[in-house]
Amino acid sequence: MTLATVTPSILVVEDEPAIQELLAVNLKHAGFLVARAASAEDAWAAIGTVLPDLVVLDWMLPGQSGVALARKIRAEERTRELPIIMLTARVHEEDKVQGLEAGADDYVTKPFSPKELIARVRAVLRRRAPHLAGEAVEIDDLTLNPATHRVVAGGQPLDLGPTEFRLLFFFMTHAERVYTRAQLLDEVWGDHVFIEERTVDVHIRRLRAALESSGHHERVETVRGTGYRFRGA
Ligand code: CA
Repeated sequence: MTLATVTPSILVVEDEPAIQELLAVNLKHAGFLVARAASAEDAWAAIGTVLPDLVVLDWMLPGQSGVALARKIRAEERTRELPIIMLTARVHEEDKVQGLEAGADDYVTKPFSPKELIARVRAVLRRRAPHLAGEAVEIDDLTLNPATHRVVAGGQPLDLGPTEFRLLFFFMTHAERVYTRAQLLDEVWGDHVFIEERTVDVHIRRLRAALESSGHHERVETVRGTGYRFRGA
């Protein structure tokens, strides 16, 4: 994941190479970052390292099924909120119900038109992750525009590094909630395994320094023994 962008990342889980390729090419063309897995086991390992913004998940996979993986994603606290679109050749109503009960947000039946799939991906992201829709976020007189990469505080443009930009974007779209360093690494860096938690503190310091001139640095609160919170009100 490129730190400078807020491009949504999609994990495609599909064992048939031709369909996996079709999905990946079309999603990339639509502007998404794409990762791929050919089995539920590989997908789970990939998610364990980098949390995607959405999963396109085939029902029929070798080994563990897509439905089983969807249940697993919903059962873990870290992945519970991860949007899922199930992909399947099955058309029977009971399968659709089973897929939705397993936690899928939407359902696309094969053969599908790439256009329709992209539209559904966008719709699910708008509903489940509105902060990825590309609209400017505003708290008080602090405005961040993910499309233009501009941050304005008290009428003055701020110069933020790419990591501070992502960190502020995450904070502003998730204000008032406390996040541990590990959660921030996962959400902002896309990696909670290989980066040291100290890194978070370094970038928090830089973010506070950048926000100091407009007084917004006080919104970045340290929650002792837990992590950080961004004050939204
Ligand atoms: Ca398959």
